[in-house]
Amino acid sequence: MAIVWTKKLNHLTIKRLTPFLITLIIGLVTLWGIESLSNLKTLKIDRQGIVLHSFPTTNSEVVTEIATNSSIEIIQEQTGWLKARYLGRIEGWLPKWLINNNQLKNDKEIAASFEEATAIYQKADSKSSIISTIPKDSLIPINYIEYNWAQVSYQGKPAFVNLNAVELINQEEAERILVETDSLDNSIDEKEEEKERLKDKLIMRKKEDYLLEKADNFSNIIYQTNYLQEFTRLDFIEYNAQESFYFVADQQGIKGYINSFSLSEPVYSIDHRSQPVNSKLQQATIMLDPGHGGEDPGTLSTDQKYSEKSFTYKIADVLKKTLEAFGATVILTNESDQFLDLTERVEISNQKQPDLFLSLHFDSSYDTQINGVRTYFYHLNDEEFAKTLHSGLITSGRPNLGVEYGNFQVLRENTVPSLLLELGYITNSEDLELMLTYDYHQNLADAITEGLSTYFDQVENQLEINNTPDR
Ligand SMILES: [Zn+2]
Repeated sequence: MAIVWTKKLNHLTIKRLTPFLITLIIGLVTLWGIESLSNLKTLKIDRQGIVLHSFPTTNSEVVTEIATNSSIEIIQEQTGWLKARYLGRIEGWLPKWLINNNQLKNDKEIAASFEEATAIYQKADSKSSIISTIPKDSLIPINYIEYNWAQVSYQGKPAFVNLNAVELINQEEAERILVETDSLDNSIDEKEEEKERLKDKLIMRKKEDYLLEKADNFSNIIYQTNYLQEFTRLDFIEYNAQESFYFVADQQGIKGYINSFSLSEPVYSIDHRSQPVNSKLQQATIMLDPGHGGEDPGTLSTDQKYSEKSFTYKIADVLKKTLEAFGATVILTNESDQFLDLTERVEISNQKQPDLFLSLHFDSSYDTQINGVRTYFYHLNDEEFAKTLHSGLITSGRPNLGVEYGNFQVLRENTVPSLLLELGYITNSEDLELMLTYDYHQNLADAITEGLSTYFDQVENQLEINNTPDR
């Protein structure tokens, strides 16, 4: 995993980290407390992953692993490390910081959190030359700890930081924070590097799908793919108006075709915003995208009398009025029934930067029995938004077809939180009959508004939690 390790933390993540750091500090204080109680120094190891090293560094040879629930005798102490005897005869070193920090699985899993700007040195010695100063609020993973020094990698080279100058935190937690703050904090250069790295990468986002011999859903299957399997993009093939395929190579170099709807291109998530800018629906701008229009009618009813576009404009109109009654600002991608291609729609969204974007559609199926409502998301960090909005949508009382991943261009290339809603089946007589009534559109608009207001409540609650000072 190529992660750019040094990044600034924003204040929000510091707030979130604080309880963890406090736990860690309490843990360390407790440990010192136990030690100062007596000189007996028997320690019970009640967890997995603790090993004895030949020297007080995590990159030194592992002497043995300590079995869970066994006791060790402490024979020597120094900053960060304990020398212990196990089973009465095996001696070695174990890291102090690991023992009372249950979130660390093993002694390789730590990062240094720089609360203040701190110098890093060429050697584990404050008389050696200073390589650089790490800015305040940075996180860097630790390779190993040697006496009172931690070795870190700085711009690909080893460097040392004095342990008194940093807090130790769980590396998994650090990675999660780094990934989450990626789009916020990446400098332009880092972003460009990340884009270059992800440019041809594809990820399988469906649990059950196939690598095919040809760009055709009826072609022979090469093998069944795995959820989240990685592929390299070689080409994109438009099969017909509804279906397209990626020509891909897997990590073993096996080539084939995969339905484009099932894959994601992670490069598009680099610039994707994960939250609305405003945390209140009344202050927010919602962009509505009525699907289809002009020469593109969308899908048709079985008797060909009704087209999807007539309904998407109706729901957009009713939903706009409903949201405006709540004080929200609503912009439509397409005011009148004119043709607008998908690229133009997503460009309008990216240019206007609304708080949220909703594309409104009605579905069709050869199976005329299928009916109900479904919510699609593309970006991983829109999944919570999708679930919350969908929980509102199903208060309409329509059959619940769930929340799903979908590789739609208006979602994929969108830089704001965005969902695509399928609001009923035009090919189902019960759904179609409802779509022809004003009441159904108002019912849907109320249900979507309910979902949106719950979502804004969640965003605001999250902000409050993050802004509450810790005591
Ligand atoms: Zn549609």
